[in-house]
Amino acid sequence: MSDRFTEIATGLAAVAKGFHARGWLLGTSGNLSEVVEREPLRLAMSPSGVDKGELRPEQLLAIDENARIVSAHEGKPSDESLLHLRIVKNRGAGAVLHTHSVWNTILSDLYASEGGVTIKGYEMLKGLQGVRTHEHTEFLPIIENSQDMPALAELVGATLNEHPAAHGFLLRRHGLYSWGQTLAEAKRHIEIFEFLLETMGRTLHIKGGRLD
Ligand SMILES: [Zn+2]
Repeated sequence: MSDRFTEIATGLAAVAKGFHARGWLLGTSGNLSEVVEREPLRLAMSPSGVDKGELRPEQLLAIDENARIVSAHEGKPSDESLLHLRIVKNRGAGAVLHTHSVWNTILSDLYASEGGVTIKGYEMLKGLQGVRTHEHTEFLPIIENSQDMPALAELVGATLNEHPAAHGFLLRRHGLYSWGQTLAEAKRHIEIFEFLLETMGRTLHIKGGRLD
């Protein structure tokens, strides 16, 4: 591994461990990636079926733009690598993170009929890149879940085009995707969304289905 790949892999493993400790990547779920090189496109990608609390830097795979492994690994990339690649290409993202938390799973179902979750009026929104005020309205689109990854990647691409200001999206009854120019920014975005979705979910619970 090059020094740069090792550095990126170490960063991804550290984020995985932290997210796992918060209960956002349980049961080997979720996945993480970061761009190593743009030309040709190379991503460091978490392997499939590995406990994210125990992920070691040397287990990170290098994949190309078609989600094929280009490093000397026996493992297999996550099935969702195609979604990461689509986000990187569509948004120019430097890192993509995907969590399976209880609250993002609940809200991805609760708001599915509305096509997304509208989040507004919270101070924590200012943690999203480019947002300067709590008066910002963030629309987090919800995409129907599927095991057909090429088709789902197409749908993700179309959704990102339809919502150019979105900082993330939900897959219904599945999980949250967010991204950033850097791994630090992607991590911050996931933390912000997880905080906001849990806050909204708990508020709905306490107030019997009302947020206001
Ligand atoms: Zn997933």
